[in-house]
Amino acid sequence: MKYFPIFFDLWAQKVLVVGGGEVALRKVVLLEQSGAAITLVAPEILPELRERAAAGKIQVHIREFLPADLSGARLVIVATSRRAVNRWIAALSEARAIPVNVVDDREASRFIVPAIVDRDPVLAAISTSGTSPVLARRLRERLEAAIPKNIGALASWLRSLRHIARRRLHGIDERRRFFETLVDGPAARHFVGGDVRGAQRIAQQLLAGTSAAPHASGEVTLVGAGPGDPELLTLKALRALQDADVILHDRLVPQAVLDMARRDAAQICVGKAAGGIGSTQEEINALLIEHALLGKRVVRLKGGDPFIFGRGGEELEALLDARISFSVIPGVTAAAGCAAYAGIPLTHRDHAHSVTFVTAHADKDGPEPDWQALAKPGITAVFYMGLARVEHIAARLMAHGASAALPAAVVAQGTLPSQRVITGTLATIAAVTAGSNVESPALLVVGEVVSLQRRLAWFESAEPLDVSQSA
Ligand code: SAH
Repeated sequence: MKYFPIFFDLWAQKVLVVGGGEVALRKVVLLEQSGAAITLVAPEILPELRERAAAGKIQVHIREFLPADLSGARLVIVATSRRAVNRWIAALSEARAIPVNVVDDREASRFIVPAIVDRDPVLAAISTSGTSPVLARRLRERLEAAIPKNIGALASWLRSLRHIARRRLHGIDERRRFFETLVDGPAARHFVGGDVRGAQRIAQQLLAGTSAAPHASGEVTLVGAGPGDPELLTLKALRALQDADVILHDRLVPQAVLDMARRDAAQICVGKAAGGIGSTQEEINALLIEHALLGKRVVRLKGGDPFIFGRGGEELEALLDARISFSVIPGVTAAAGCAAYAGIPLTHRDHAHSVTFVTAHADKDGPEPDWQALAKPGITAVFYMGLARVEHIAARLMAHGASAALPAAVVAQGTLPSQRVITGTLATIAAVTAGSNVESPALLVVGEVVSLQRRLAWFESAEPLDVSQSA
């Protein structure tokens, strides 16, 4: 280990910054948050630094650096534009055993400054020991996404419970178990999810029940997995996947999304046509309830959005009857994902003022869509459907007055590398689709907006768009 990581309490400690430009300003802004007593020396300084001095926030000497400036300093940060001067100041600091950092000159520095994720009081610091600042930045971005925004507030809340825990719970072990239960269990999840009251209620129950506190009860989170591209998961969905004990997922959820789940989470495919367990809705409901009653954190992962043709509502009703607590994390629905990746704006001031999502899966006894309304001009209709339904839908729309020349597109395997977009008109779309041997899942988009597709398509799918040539 070339660098030893520490967190330095600089409150009211003198920190010397030499330099008055952008770089020095950035360091000052960061240092200010630590409550350090900042002294800055430079012959010329930015207005922002001047304002800080005028407000009494930092001490500024507008002149060249003098060795006497070092006296009493706990840390020195050097950021002048002259390398020789920087090195001279570094050498003087070294001789006085004051830790020094020369910005962008690792060799002359005694310490380096990490990339940080700031969730005060929680702080994650990342360093590649100066080998690759770009890599450090990328790691930081990942942690930014992975660490809940309010984890700092969670830490403060936990600290605020220390006092009462000491009074109510005797013995170190009991207190440790109490805090472990809070951090690992539903309390922290409720807190991070924004439900501070729920978290408080759980903490109170645990304190009241002392060591005999009931074990965390299970709960179900209905999670939208998006249309296919795993990067379209929301941050909340990712967190739920990484917290899950059990994941019940649809067949449509791609492997790449499942790969983001906690390694030891049980994954159960309950796809309707999978022929496996839980093929009927009743069986799925029963599985959800069964695992939740075992005290598990259950994620019910659905393609797209759980509340759009996903039977999310039905599953929640079953959970409600079984008195199991639940929450819902929305996802990018197939219509939104496919339209975006195909280059079809679902609304457009010149072409469509509303959009309708229609399910047109073959269901003999199901109610027919309102064809009359869907055939009206000036709207976009998106049909969630089996591929075999394209002909039927186009025919019904034309029979209800839609123009045979109305543009239409089939988007198959949208947002995935295998995405295919087939365009035509109501008169031609069924034949073109049939001749293109695309594979489900697929959507049909009907409306003037489809005419924009040719110009707005941006997503390079891995496969050629036209396979009719390549037999
Ligand atoms: N809850 C889901 C929809 C489930 S119904 C959502 O919000 O997206 C399943 C239908 O969604 C499929 O028959 C197909 O019409 C559509 N679909 C889902 N994923 C798709 C994709 N990647 N590309 C095209 N259509 C898709």
